[in-house]
Amino acid sequence: MSPIDVVEPKSSNRSAPLTSQQVVDITRQHNYGTWRFQKGWNPMHIMDAEGCYIVDGAGKRYLDFSSQLMCSNLGHKNQAVIDAIARQAQELSYAMPGYATTARAELSQLLLEVLPKGISKFFFTTSGTEANEAAFKIARMYTGKTKIIARYRSYHGSTAGSIAATGDPRRWAMEPGGKGPGILFAPEVHCYKCPIKHTYPGCGIACADYIEHMIRNESDVAAVLVEPIVGTNGVIVPPEEYMPKLRRICDEYGVLLIADEVMTGWGRTGEWFAMNHWGVVPDILVTAKGITSAYVPLGLCATTEKIADFFQDHYFAHGHTYEAHPLTLAPAVATIHEMQRLGLVERARELAPYVEDKLKELKAKHPSIGDVRGKGLFWAVDLVKDRTTKEPFNTYSDKVSGKPLLVDQIAAKILADGVTIQAWVSHFVIAPPLIVTKEQIDFGISVLDKHLAIADAALG
Ligand code: PLP
Repeated sequence: MSPIDVVEPKSSNRSAPLTSQQVVDITRQHNYGTWRFQKGWNPMHIMDAEGCYIVDGAGKRYLDFSSQLMCSNLGHKNQAVIDAIARQAQELSYAMPGYATTARAELSQLLLEVLPKGISKFFFTTSGTEANEAAFKIARMYTGKTKIIARYRSYHGSTAGSIAATGDPRRWAMEPGGKGPGILFAPEVHCYKCPIKHTYPGCGIACADYIEHMIRNESDVAAVLVEPIVGTNGVIVPPEEYMPKLRRICDEYGVLLIADEVMTGWGRTGEWFAMNHWGVVPDILVTAKGITSAYVPLGLCATTEKIADFFQDHYFAHGHTYEAHPLTLAPAVATIHEMQRLGLVERARELAPYVEDKLKELKAKHPSIGDVRGKGLFWAVDLVKDRTTKEPFNTYSDKVSGKPLLVDQIAAKILADGVTIQAWVSHFVIAPPLIVTKEQIDFGISVLDKHLAIADAALG
């Protein structure tokens, strides 16, 4: 057998560059557009991105007002993270998870610094979805029980288990009307539109009592699963007393509390993790997105030592080929260092009142805004047809049945004016990179302000 020639090629073997139109056409023809009907998908070609901006194929710049999918927390082209990826690729581009790697050890040490105290054992995945799947399995193995209580108006991921635990109608498309084995739903905790028709604070946090009632009347409950602040379904912040009360209930009945911090982690809400707002430590914390500021795909399922101890003598029946992949871990180390160096958690906290004031001004001006709510640099502008009835312009059923949504129409106008914003059913999510300036916030909100006239006109 002749030896393999390992000489580097003299010129780049990358094929000739495609035109922007070719990029869009090939993408549309040969890739699935997700969470949508394929008809009418006309993706924008993103060619470049830097700081709080993305650049399209024609060179037009857009302010990234929702950090892509609420994940580009550091902004784009952070040199320290880019260098960490390159360094790791040179040093060790893969090792099977059974080995110890420097990247995993360094990240584990840093996680002990930033995660809520008491969370100290880690399982790394490549997405938030997989991290939730790991959490469900760990909870079930540890407790020996099956049922997980999730909540309506929640999103936990797209694979079989995590979509089954998702409380919004995205799961209907997969399993019409169903909710998957072992999953129960409690009402969402939404003081603006309380599904059990209570009013805070007179309610005494009846939504937590509801969960206690479920646990008492169901056998076999392993865990309660919450997004500490609900993300895609409307940036819904629970009342102050909710999380401590839920912690007490879970402790009383020996049920685990799983906090899905995929979107709320990593400074987004003005704390490293949203659970810190209420001083509550979950038994299992799930995160992804901001952990690498989306430079590479990484998810994390982290547990307390007590849960970890259980697996000393019990088989840990879980794993992936790409679990703890070094190329995903080294940039997470750099991301955390950059967040610390730039003081981004504090920055999100400090900018929160500025954003809140601006959004309240917007609400005073536009009768189509029913509510503005959020924490840190994580806010929703919730549109309603009528402030008294709080009826939205569109519902989840409209989305999954393919009906055109008013928020999409407005988002298209906003885009044309140089701002990308996440529009979801009947609200917008304002979640810029944590490096955003006040001037950029002003610009983004001024463009939103301009096009909310469309919603005001639709009030009739
Ligand atoms: N959990 C929450 C709260 C999320 O917001 C998301 C994604 O948006 C997920 C889980 C799924 O994460 P991923 O898209 O990385 O699989």
